[in-house]
Amino acid sequence: MIYIGCHLSVTDGYAAMGETMLRFGGNTFAFFTRNPRGGRSKPLNEPDALALGSLLAREGFGPLTAHGSYTMNLCSANPVTRENGLDMLQKDLALMEHLPGNLYNFHPGAHTGQGAQTGIDQIAQALNRALWPDMHTTVLLETMAGKGTEIGGSFAQLREILDRVELRDHVGVCLDTCHVWDAGYDLVRDLDGVLTQFDRIVGLGRLKAVHFNDSKNELGSHKDRHAKLGEGQIGLPALHRIALHPALQGLPFTLETPNDDEGYIREIHLVQDWMAQGS
Ligand code: FE
Ligand code: FE
Ligand code: ZN
Repeated sequence: MIYIGCHLSVTDGYAAMGETMLRFGGNTFAFFTRNPRGGRSKPLNEPDALALGSLLAREGFGPLTAHGSYTMNLCSANPVTRENGLDMLQKDLALMEHLPGNLYNFHPGAHTGQGAQTGIDQIAQALNRALWPDMHTTVLLETMAGKGTEIGGSFAQLREILDRVELRDHVGVCLDTCHVWDAGYDLVRDLDGVLTQFDRIVGLGRLKAVHFNDSKNELGSHKDRHAKLGEGQIGLPALHRIALHPALQGLPFTLETPNDDEGYIREIHLVQDWMAQGS
């Protein structure tokens, strides 16, 4: 089985998100640690954190995936932006210590003209400054569509970053189905081949989460526009194969599809029906 859920917002606190996901019928969820376009993180008080922790344990939830801000760019050519990014990362990881055992995912960054190699070095450097040995969160690099100067549009770039991180046990990868498709990995005609490549380059053992989205654009478009399941170019048969693929079992799958609550509930149930049918 996989864990399935969607993105929620922290508006009413952290434990409230757990209650919402129970109502949606899922068993994992993702949330932004702060406004996705930047801004302050939502404070997390200890009773709220404990209430969420006990809900997760009681209901058998899979790991949660917090998402870093889109404005966090650890490899901008602008040193002030880089420093702000590191500051956000450090504060987010401090917040995550109140929810031990979960995942924190972020977009590796955009090198804004410095070149991929410099970008990769700067991202790894920032991670080496932000991670510490006895932390309780696994930090994930998200696979990207390769839009503009984005880093992470290839498995090889992710591997290069991971190789430069000293505390290897605290980092991994989150695979976004829309992004890898847009990056040019053919999940429709060659799912096994894509996962074999991932395994060879990054290692499936380092894959800790999936963002489960259809894509509005064609293979290799480098666009990054998510679609509802079955309403994009990946399509339901391929998404069904992904959800049931042996290499991905046990992972938390998060829907980041353009949906309202009812739409998310439908997609969560769709994936659960696939699992119940088991083929
Ligand atoms: Fe993302
Ligand atoms: Fe994503
Ligand atoms: Zn995206």
